[in-house]
Amino acid sequence: MPEELINADVIISGAGPAGLTLSLLLARAGFSVVLIDPEIPKTDDKPSGRTAALLNSSINVLKTAGIWEKVQSIGTPLKIMKIIDDSAGLENQITVAFEASDVGFEAFGYNIPNSLLKKALLENVKTTKNLTHLCPQKLVSYEINGTYVKARTENGQKIMASVIIGTDGRNSLVRKVADIDCTIRDYGQIAMTCLISHTKPHNFTSTELHRSGGPFTFVPMPQNQSSVVWVEKTEDAKKYLAMKKPEYERAIQDRTCGFLGTVKLESNPESWPLMYLDAKGLIGERSALAAEAAHVMSPIGAQGLNLSLRDVATLAEVLTDAARLGEDIGSKSVLARYERRRMVDIKSHVTGIDGLNRAVANDKGFVNDLRRLGLKGLQNVPALKNFAMTQGLVPSMDEGRILTSATL
Ligand SMILES: Cc1cc2nc3c(=O)[nH]c(=O)nc-3n(C[C@H](O)[C@H](O)[C@H](O)COP(=O)(O)OP(=O)(O)OC[C@H]3O[C@@H](n4cnc5c(N)ncnc54)[C@H](O)[C@@H]3O)c2cc1C
Repeated sequence: MPEELINADVIISGAGPAGLTLSLLLARAGFSVVLIDPEIPKTDDKPSGRTAALLNSSINVLKTAGIWEKVQSIGTPLKIMKIIDDSAGLENQITVAFEASDVGFEAFGYNIPNSLLKKALLENVKTTKNLTHLCPQKLVSYEINGTYVKARTENGQKIMASVIIGTDGRNSLVRKVADIDCTIRDYGQIAMTCLISHTKPHNFTSTELHRSGGPFTFVPMPQNQSSVVWVEKTEDAKKYLAMKKPEYERAIQDRTCGFLGTVKLESNPESWPLMYLDAKGLIGERSALAAEAAHVMSPIGAQGLNLSLRDVATLAEVLTDAARLGEDIGSKSVLARYERRRMVDIKSHVTGIDGLNRAVANDKGFVNDLRRLGLKGLQNVPALKNFAMTQGLVPSMDEGRILTSATL
């Protein structure tokens, strides 16, 4: 039976990590928020291999959302980030290591299991004032009527608000209704993830091995465990995924190049098809996109959710400032501020990660040579390495107050 109409300030469609975080930021800032998602949240306490390496600016977003204390205990600090070109055999490896202490930090950030991050966010969503979580419910349509948005879920629930935000992922309905064009490409690659234990310590080091086919990355987890992200061309990945456990474990063992000693598979491999998605803009009439509704990247470089949390932090700031000034938070002029502040950061990361993914997956001699030359430059020219470190691991663009000082 359809419920009565709900009135709110903001509707957020999509309760992935980005939408959940945004809902907490906005509700804590005093907005009434309705968050919609069709997926029944999993209650599993055991982490899978799908994790997110979150940089310090993202940690500030989680602090502002009020969940960092809970999340810190399930995260593992990332003190060293290594990139190793492994395309020309063991003896010709090129290694570049970035150390957090070189730029005055104890860690670049934390590696956090996705399922546990979502669980922590959901727990707080349930107990936060001004926040209604409609779940499982799917947004099926919305229309604009002058000064408000009227949205409808599959169950017939109607919601009215000043603005609707799409954090509804790669097939975003909000993006479609708002008529925001986007470029989509299938990478023809699959990322396989799993959890491993190992006999050697990881020393809080995340290691990304660049090999033809795609990158192979292991990221530290508590004790002697690591999460693995292994990217291969789709047809090759399918062969690996069809392997029996001991065979798969051996394949992982080979690819860790002995850095972790003897490895043991601790979770079943999971697979994630990879794509490129780049929305031409972030706003429509009384609507805005954030996170994977606006941009999807390869996991190489571990930038996806970091970029998305910068979106939601900026959006929360822009809407909060507008409300303090008595402005209409769904107006074009307010939403345009959000778009202006985010476009350079988004475009540079989406384009940069796309280029890096193609270069790493490319078997052609000259592209491979160029990539190795680039890494050698980073290895040998400290100023270049420092620049790469500050731009890639400590992003300085669009510094808002949430990203820099965890205040809204
Ligand atoms: C293997 C792998 C490793 C990664 N590692 C990292 C990393 O180390 N660091 C990093 O920063 N990023 C990483 N990423 C990227 C990161 O995981 C994603 O960016 C992030 O999980 C996406 O979150 P999201 O909230 O944007 O989207 P999603 O998690 O896709 O959430 C979208 C939500 O919208 C809901 N939805 C869809 N349609 C509707 C509708 N009509 N109505 C209501 N709700 C709807 C869905 O049910 C879903 O819950 C990685 C990605 C992969 C694939």
